[in-house]
Amino acid sequence: MELNSELDRLRKYSEIDAELKRAKEKHPNYPTDDFKRLAIIQEELGETFQAALQYHDEDGHYDKVRKELIQTAAMCMRMLENMEIDHSEY
Ligand SMILES: [Mg+2]
Repeated sequence: MELNSELDRLRKYSEIDAELKRAKEKHPNYPTDDFKRLAIIQEELGETFQAALQYHDEDGHYDKVRKELIQTAAMCMRMLENMEIDHSEY
C-alpha cells in the first residue's frame, strides 16, 4: 500500500518535471522580474480555473483541469529553481 502511494507520488512529480522541461525548451527566456514570473503562474492557474468551469458547467473534460494544474505546478517549480539561482542566500 505505501509503495503504491509512493509510486503514485513519484508519477505525479515526474509529470510536473516533464512539463517543466518542455516549458524550458519552448520558452528558454525566463523573466528576471518576480511579478512577471508570478504572472506566468497566475496565467496557468487562470487556465486551470477555466478548465474547471468548463468541466462543471459545459462539456469540458477533467483531463484538461489536470493538465493545466500540472502546468501551474511546473511554473511554480520554475520560479523556485530561479529563486535559488538568483538568491543563493536562501
Ligand atoms: Mg496552460
